[in-house]
Amino acid sequence: MKGVLFPGDSRAVLTDLPKPEVAEGDVEIRLTASGICGTDLHYWRESPSARGGRAGVVPGHEVVGHVVSSASTTGHVRVGDRVVASTLHVGCGQCSYCHRGATTYCRLKRILGRDLNGSYGELVVVPERAVTVIPSGVSDREAVLLACNLSTAYSALQKANAANGKLLAVLGLGPVGLSAVVLARYLGWKVVAVDPQPSRRELAQSLGADWTLAPGAPEYIQEIRELDPNGGVPAVLECSGASQAQADGLRMLAPGGTEVLVGSGPGFQLDSDYMLAPELTITASGCCKTYEFDDALALLNRRAIAVEGILGPTFRIEDVGLALEHAANGNDGKVLFDWT
Ligand SMILES: [Zn+2]
Ligand SMILES: [Zn+2]
Repeated sequence: MKGVLFPGDSRAVLTDLPKPEVAEGDVEIRLTASGICGTDLHYWRESPSARGGRAGVVPGHEVVGHVVSSASTTGHVRVGDRVVASTLHVGCGQCSYCHRGATTYCRLKRILGRDLNGSYGELVVVPERAVTVIPSGVSDREAVLLACNLSTAYSALQKANAANGKLLAVLGLGPVGLSAVVLARYLGWKVVAVDPQPSRRELAQSLGADWTLAPGAPEYIQEIRELDPNGGVPAVLECSGASQAQADGLRMLAPGGTEVLVGSGPGFQLDSDYMLAPELTITASGCCKTYEFDDALALLNRRAIAVEGILGPTFRIEDVGLALEHAANGNDGKVLFDWT
């Protein structure tokens, strides 16, 4: 089968890979659509020594396609079903975390595209418990966004504290940040969206952001604080992973506010004294829980949210290098692959 490997140093090699094996409880999916996630870009840029053994694993975790063979033991998924991989953290299926849908906490989890061959190959094999049948109201392209970015944003928003009002600052307007803008507007929140790139701010505005700002100028934090009569925003979703943005996010909060860290990055020096009197909370959000995935899927299926505007250019897998460069520039929303 056709597939791509990341050997390191921003190279992507399209090659012929052995057809995957299907074990009991697994389903085999022929891709129709997939996408490029920020995590893929991290893996792509790693040095060959950092890649190590993972250089032989097909990257990618946004899997959408049809089931072409099934060793299902439950009948939950059948050959021909249109499915999406509903978690990139494939849990053991046995532990208490897995039983409550929190596969991201599972100590035996395997990550799609890191430990298990992922979505840069035309056939993907995953346990049936890690896929969800896509309802007819949801397109393949929307399902790609849901597979990671949209469900991640949904999960992160559950941790944002709205106790002081309904104003959210979203820092970093990649596909996760843009998904958060759409979801927060659906929930009735006002949104201030922050990113250095003008095209991303325009996109956020077109998706319903009430204010957009570029970070950097010293006044920008004060400008955001003044948007709320409490002198700060109740919640920040930090989606960029940049250390400065994480630190800025803390300074935007109203007393009692919460900053949710979603973007992955080098981390920041915690100013704990600054947090004490206003009793600020920093929390982190990783992969969504299965019930959150189902909730976000239902929102798409009943057209409660419109995400088409987040979806950017579509490439063939043969143009994977071009597609990765495009995603790395991060100018126009989610970059997708069409496998049909
Ligand atoms: Zn992802
Ligand atoms: Zn488990």
